Amino acid sequence: MIFYVDKINGVAAGRKVTMLPVAIIERRYKCDKGLRAHEVEHIKQYCVLFVIVGTLGLLLTNAAVALPAAMMAHDLAYTAIGKYRLWCEVKAYKKQIQHGLSIDKAASFISKYYKLQLTVDEAKKLLE
Ligand SMILES: [Zn+2]
Repeated sequence: MIFYVDKINGVAAGRKVTMLPVAIIERRYKCDKGLRAHEVEHIKQYCVLFVIVGTLGLLLTNAAVALPAAMMAHDLAYTAIGKYRLWCEVKAYKKQIQHGLSIDKAASFISKYYKLQLTVDEAKKLLE
């Protein structure tokens, strides 16, 4: 689910909402299908980990533990594990590239904004 808002934080044009399968995009980017595809990809990533962690949690514990663990799984992994964050962003930017974003620009964003210690050329290779 995507919601359009007036302003996010002055840096990002869109972002996934923590612990929910929801993303927000600044209203001025409402026609940007690439940005929408990027955020939808993050929602899908959230849902995959939700199902995996939720299922394991239900098998091993109970719903009171499994539900919050499932809701936090993607965001915790994204924040704490650089390689997971890189994988998520490469997949999301590949979707955005399909809608017209240049590989050079996507590589520049990945190397600059996600604390991944990656050069533009290294990011570009992952996007090709
Ligand atoms: Zn992203």
